[in-house]
Amino acid sequence: MKRQRITEALKNRRTLVADGAWGTALQERGLKGGECPELWNFEHPEMVLDIARSYIDAGSNLIETNTFGGNRYKLEHYGLGEQVFELNKTAAEISRKAAGDDNWVMASIGPTGKMTVMGDVTEEDFYKVFKEQSEALAAGGADAIIVETMSAVDEAISAVKAAKENTSLEVICSFTFEPTVQGEYRTMMGVTPAEASIAAVNAGADIVGANCGKGYEGMTQIIKEIKTVLPEIPVIIQANAGLPELIEGISVFPATPEEIAGQNKLWIKAGVNIIGGCCGTTDKHIHAIKKAVEGFS
Ligand SMILES: [Zn+2]
Repeated sequence: MKRQRITEALKNRRTLVADGAWGTALQERGLKGGECPELWNFEHPEMVLDIARSYIDAGSNLIETNTFGGNRYKLEHYGLGEQVFELNKTAAEISRKAAGDDNWVMASIGPTGKMTVMGDVTEEDFYKVFKEQSEALAAGGADAIIVETMSAVDEAISAVKAAKENTSLEVICSFTFEPTVQGEYRTMMGVTPAEASIAAVNAGADIVGANCGKGYEGMTQIIKEIKTVLPEIPVIIQANAGLPELIEGISVFPATPEEIAGQNKLWIKAGVNIIGGCCGTTDKHIHAIKKAVEGFS
């Protein structure tokens, strides 16, 4: 049976569950600081598959891919510039295998680490690297592309356009917002959730939202802001498991699965359509999120 488009499925089912962190899960399985996470798609595919499966087993309807830093700029840093296509394609194949026929693979595209305002790249440069990555993820069997943890709107827009214009996949665009001293949420450059989301939809995004950032409490406000200006567009939220605390040099995310699940009910009331997690979110959190979602609907 062919899977529905995610946006189609959302019309019938109120809330879908995505997955948790990949970086955290890779570290738990032995990824060291300074190592290239995406190289694990070649060197430890069984570990990458294990992460993907742990989320499916916990109840995820959508899982990501181990490709957050899989763009050419990031991979060149590790001397892997010639492996962009294969590393991304392999990652999508691994997640596809775990997702099976009934669940979706939304392949991850993260920021390049470069900024047009610094003059080191142009929007055309962004478009080219995101086109390359998107095509590889599509070749590996992804259902959707999630452009995530974006702070710069121009970079996000280039990624959305590149994915939309060069693949037939659905495109999700998720920004990271930080609270101002007044308690309002903005990107690093001062753009509001409403403005960033409208720009993403105008570029072709099918689903918009927020991920990472400062904990999960502010997400209710962000959902409301987006829904006010884009009532028909599905919203995805993948918060970190609280604010990290540095314990013996390691970032520890303190939020328990129960705390997150309690917060999820507020998000559902505010109109969220897909809930997952970012840094510090484990399969145990996803299991609790799944229960919260099922209990609510
Ligand atoms: Zn995060």
